[in-house]
Amino acid sequence: MPATIINGAAVAKTIRQEIAAEVAAIKERHGLIPGLATILVGEDPASQSYVAAKNKTAHALGIHSEQMTLPATTSEEDLLRLVEQCNRNPAIHGILVQLPLPRHIDEPKVLFAIDPAKDVDGFHPVNAGKMMLGQRCFLPCTPNGILELLQRTGVETSGAEVVVVGRSNIVGKPIANLMLQKRPGGNATVTICHTRTRDMAAHTRRADILIVAAGVARMIKADQIKQGAVVIDVGVNRVGQSATGKAVLAGDVDFDDVLDKASAITPVPGGVGPMTITMLMQNTLQAAKQAAGLM
Ligand code: NAP
Repeated sequence: MPATIINGAAVAKTIRQEIAAEVAAIKERHGLIPGLATILVGEDPASQSYVAAKNKTAHALGIHSEQMTLPATTSEEDLLRLVEQCNRNPAIHGILVQLPLPRHIDEPKVLFAIDPAKDVDGFHPVNAGKMMLGQRCFLPCTPNGILELLQRTGVETSGAEVVVVGRSNIVGKPIANLMLQKRPGGNATVTICHTRTRDMAAHTRRADILIVAAGVARMIKADQIKQGAVVIDVGVNRVGQSATGKAVLAGDVDFDDVLDKASAITPVPGGVGPMTITMLMQNTLQAAKQAAGLM
């Protein structure tokens, strides 16, 4: 039997409706409007479209969003000054600095300058540390989206063998850490693979839940997964262009190859992707409520 397709777009839509309802409720009851600042430095087309999508989603959910666009030549000092202004602005509850930044800017320094209480991307070391310790914090959006997808589709993680391919700070390491936490949605036995892993297939074939975030198109084939595995494909790879000029995307998993062997799988596009922006909106709502003492 072919795998169940985990419809991230549908799950994201449900969560967005929940967020919009809560945004409307806190506006009515407390006069509070969650505010998000998105800071874009330079003109990278992919970054421009990501930021535009974030602002569009914020508006659709009733979240106030301000896009701040700076030229690629902006100095580190000017960017830090803008971050500081956002830190002090009471109408802004969440700050997102779109990555990557131009090479002359020290990225960790800028992320560190964001007030951890407004760090809705969850990249500040304070939030990363709290996440590791299992304390309440802003969780990074893509890993949090994966947790939500697994929980809302009823995938049992407790005691499961989870294998994560990729060890980046934004996906691989945090999702591995979250699946390890002693709480619902965690409690898994976790292995992380990367480019220095010897015999990666020996690990991936043991996985009850396989999470792939490597950035290599269709690298995981059917012979690398276990019969009945749940496969979460985080990869977004541009593999061509349609006749209308739109990018053709592929995940890190060879979807057609594994479809009859997996028990459930996220498609690309329409799997993990829609969850990422949704979790950013959820974090912005959380930041506004925390600032107002509502949670
Ligand atoms: P990244 O920073 O480039 O990290 C990739 C990781 O994969 C690295 O740890 C690397 O190992 C490992 N890797 C690469 N090739 C491998 C191979 N052949 N075998 C084993 N491990 C391998 O990438 P990222 O930012 O985590 O993103 C990963 C993918 O997810 C990309 O396609 C990205 O576009 C996508 N993504 C999607 C979303 C979304 O919302 N859907 C969000 C973020 C990222 P080393 O550490 O040894 O180099």
